[in-house]
Amino acid sequence: MNKYQVCTRCVMDSSDTKLFFDSEGVCNRCREYENRIEKEWNHGYGHEKELNHLLTEIKASGKGKTYDCIIGLSGGLDSSYMLHLAVKEWGLRPYVFHINAGWNLPVAEQNIRKICDKLGVELHAEQLDFDEMRHMQLAFFKTGLAGLDAPQDHAFIAQIDRLSEKLGVKYILNGYNICTEIVANPSSWYVGSGPTGDKTYIKDVLKQHGRVKTKKYIYTTGFRHKFWLPYIKGIKTIQPLNYVPFTKQSMLNCLVEEYGYTPYKQKHFEDMLTKFLEGWWLPKRFDFDIRKAQLSSLILTGQMTREEALQILKTPPLTDAEAKNLFSEIAEKLQISEEELQQYFELPKVYRKYKNNAKAFRVGIKIYTFLGLDKRIRQ
Ligand SMILES: [Zn+2]
Repeated sequence: MNKYQVCTRCVMDSSDTKLFFDSEGVCNRCREYENRIEKEWNHGYGHEKELNHLLTEIKASGKGKTYDCIIGLSGGLDSSYMLHLAVKEWGLRPYVFHINAGWNLPVAEQNIRKICDKLGVELHAEQLDFDEMRHMQLAFFKTGLAGLDAPQDHAFIAQIDRLSEKLGVKYILNGYNICTEIVANPSSWYVGSGPTGDKTYIKDVLKQHGRVKTKKYIYTTGFRHKFWLPYIKGIKTIQPLNYVPFTKQSMLNCLVEEYGYTPYKQKHFEDMLTKFLEGWWLPKRFDFDIRKAQLSSLILTGQMTREEALQILKTPPLTDAEAKNLFSEIAEKLQISEEELQQYFELPKVYRKYKNNAKAFRVGIKIYTFLGLDKRIRQ
């Protein structure tokens, strides 16, 4: 086993088994950023032409329709700021939707309400059947895997897929941004997990852990999501935040000043389950601290020093008291005892195999790209 190593530039470490370090101790993610990404992105500067072209296309595609794009609003910083830009700065007419899987924290709901009200956009909120969600979530806890947010994440993807076809809208605005997310959570942390957007995987987990039957939950498939909608239907997922300059702090200032937005302690802490998983479960059970990726993004993009990040990482994401309360709340919402939840926490890290279709749609995309029929890129 290799010895523990931390990158000398960011704070990613050898808990990401796919990370490698050069002779200066700098990781490959840092090198990729400085050699390629930073130049292309240029901190959001100099993309006015591309952005204007894109906005003109979006508006033209929505002519005569009620909406010209779709935005999924979680209440988090990125999607909230993107909605602000889309409506207020760019004059777009998004269909704004929100999925509530039953884990929303009140502060997130207030933020969503404040922004939508002030912008005068209608919020299409979808409340998922919590009893179904609860059973699905329990099945995932029983896998012992790190990727336990899959039922919520899949619901979100499936809803976007459903809406984009139903509404006939050609553009999906995605809040992903280099500025705060260039260092993604390492895929090596999620060993054993299947693709979140793949029905086959989700269904197989449900089958193997509790025979959960879903009646109301909407699924999508890898084929539909990765291939049919983007390549055949020409529905484009774009990441417009990469065309404008901003910082995490300037986003926050804007939302606080304009909408009275309440910040969260950590990214994704608008959702009770994700707060529990990322703030306690993953660091404690696997030693995966998701803040390492988040902080590394800020270091690379010049918004924080490495020393500041290391200082933050000395304190756990949640205090013991916060974690204890959250543990009880999660067990209660899942309608299981705390002992049972603790048993899942202590499961051996040996995973069953789950079916998935990832290979099939990757091959499909390759063939399509090879034939030169690729209309767009949807990641
Ligand atoms: Zn690095």
